[in-house]
Amino acid sequence: MSVLNVARVGHPILRQKAEPVDLKALTAPGANELQRLIDDMVDTMRNEDGVGIAAPQVVRSLQIVVVEYRMNERYPDQDEIPLTVLVNPVITRSSEETSSFWEGCLSLKDLRGLVTRPREVTVEAHSRQGEKMVVAAQDFLAVVLQHEIDHLHGMVFLDRMQDLTQLAFADELQTYWTEKKAVPIPEI
Ligand code: ZN
Repeated sequence: MSVLNVARVGHPILRQKAEPVDLKALTAPGANELQRLIDDMVDTMRNEDGVGIAAPQVVRSLQIVVVEYRMNERYPDQDEIPLTVLVNPVITRSSEETSSFWEGCLSLKDLRGLVTRPREVTVEAHSRQGEKMVVAAQDFLAVVLQHEIDHLHGMVFLDRMQDLTQLAFADELQTYWTEKKAVPIPEI
């Protein structure tokens, strides 16, 4: 397993639509390049202290997302997320009710932007073993999944912001935005 380079905004791959994963190749026995990629994505996410990563962020145009959040003193308000791998994820339902978070992104290091998204989503995907899975998510997990699935469609959180004056570096957010409108979350 190894830590991969993270593409930063400006790299064209972050603006491409990622290719669907061939489930037969995903579950093929023996040395399996896709399974190795997933292991490397997990390593990279943990190394970067991210709470999720999408394959285009490690310069692979494939529809794979990994997410995980282990309790961290900097973000005590967020629930833990067990390590989850989503292959070919699709949002099949979104709530009308919305919530706002200060999102960050490993491809936009140190920036935070206030983003409003549906508060609840249902995501259908396949596991790394190729099994169908359905995830019903709300609040923090819903934000993380929507942010990651956006990466598979060539979008970053800036594209979701309604007001670019609500963009700040993390340190300045901490210093000057004492009346925060929402909770900052780890980089995704
Ligand atoms: Zn991101």
